Amino acid sequence: MKYAVLLGDGMADHPVPELGGRTPLQTAKKPDMDMLAREGVTGMVRTIPPGMPTGSDTANMAVFGYDPKEYYTGRSSIEAISMGIELKDDDLAFRCNLVTLSGSGAYEEKTMIDYSSDEIETEDAAVMITELDAHLSQKGIKFFPGKSYRHCMVWNMGIRGMALTPPHDILEKKTGKYLPDGDGSSLFIKMMKESFEFLSGHRINAKRAAKGLRPANSIWLWGEGSRLKLPSFKETYRLKGSVISAVDLVKGIGIASGMKSVDVKGATGNISTNFRGKAEAALQELRDGSDFVYIHIEAPDECGHRHEVENKVRSVELIDSQVLRPLIEGLEKLGGGYRIMLLPDHQTPLELRTHTGDPVPFVIYDSRGREAAMEDFLQAATAPDSVVKCSVMQEDSIMPNDQEDSTTPNDQETPRKGTGPAGAAAPDTHAGGTGIGLGLPSAGHRTVPCPIPCLTGAPAYDEVSAVSTGLMIEKGHALMGIFTGRTIHS
Ligand SMILES: [Zn+2]
Repeated sequence: MKYAVLLGDGMADHPVPELGGRTPLQTAKKPDMDMLAREGVTGMVRTIPPGMPTGSDTANMAVFGYDPKEYYTGRSSIEAISMGIELKDDDLAFRCNLVTLSGSGAYEEKTMIDYSSDEIETEDAAVMITELDAHLSQKGIKFFPGKSYRHCMVWNMGIRGMALTPPHDILEKKTGKYLPDGDGSSLFIKMMKESFEFLSGHRINAKRAAKGLRPANSIWLWGEGSRLKLPSFKETYRLKGSVISAVDLVKGIGIASGMKSVDVKGATGNISTNFRGKAEAALQELRDGSDFVYIHIEAPDECGHRHEVENKVRSVELIDSQVLRPLIEGLEKLGGGYRIMLLPDHQTPLELRTHTGDPVPFVIYDSRGREAAMEDFLQAATAPDSVVKCSVMQEDSIMPNDQEDSTTPNDQETPRKGTGPAGAAAPDTHAGGTGIGLGLPSAGHRTVPCPIPCLTGAPAYDEVSAVSTGLMIEKGHALMGIFTGRTIHS
């Protein structure tokens, strides 16, 4: 049996006016995702525990099977692992972006134009970060070059708990109100100001200006993290795993859990990425003895942040045709049965241009049929300490499309914790989703073509909820246990 997670970062969305009130997932042509949803088990999962940062770090950690509440130590330390930086117990890591600030006058008066300096080339950025490390040369502080605009600063015996703001959250805003705050912040502000002095006249920026590219004229520090320690994925799930991603954040989680991280040529983290190369790399890993592959595609998230509506739709279509199709074909050839889990880590709604922590739709497909995929769900749902909620809902209380977003699905229903099989006993008046979502024989149930509307083009994303699927997983990390059939309790 082989296992593949296909994760479209930020793929879930809200209804988009430019798409006639449909979501990018609803709009996209994606025959293979539709097939998985039709033949597999679907539901909603809360990947980000309430109150935790709504990012790919917490969300992917949960999907990998690790409860962020227990294991999350901050963002930058995860990236550091992937960058090959060995953190000591008394080290703090910080994300160091190369950003574009504009405007004259004091640093506080400058505006955050671009958190990525036009996605500066890795080679140019490495020169700048290396020179900056020598130039700033603070005791106990070291800068490490990463990819494009994403770099790392390590502060030995650093001060924890400063208020730091991600630069992508303050686009078009003046920096003054968002500079580091709290104990230790004066050092950070000093370094950021000095970086501006140093980088503004840098020869690489002169070269960039000549090409019409934005200058990388300041560093921006955020995303504090201390050393991350995760239990071995192999020992926990008894599967040998590989991770395939362009971004250090996701690679870092995989590496910290003992997985092999595979670099794919042309993997960029945006819509120009080598989609097919990722599928091929995943299949090669499976052929070489891995039981499990985690394929992460960043493109939909970047499109969400940039409010690129058409590209977000396109990125879903490319995931379907260039990753999922070859993956299915390859797995079929391998033989021996397989499971695929398809999901986003979090929503990155185009209208918000940032992440939300709301539940996201998932699909688990088992090549042996839906009953096989259901076995572990039923076991999970009926366990006394279940984190899978199955719910039944009266047809007449289905929420209107324009109301649901302000509420969580469970506000609108009576959750029946651990009542998986009870869903099958729902009377005929219930909305058709319940029995379908559970994959149970739907005696007398109205059938619907697919329980996840956003994957098939049914009315609206709003309807994708525990209500329409009958299944809600309250804790994202439980999903991996169910997927692998290994650890099914919280
Ligand atoms: Zn994002």
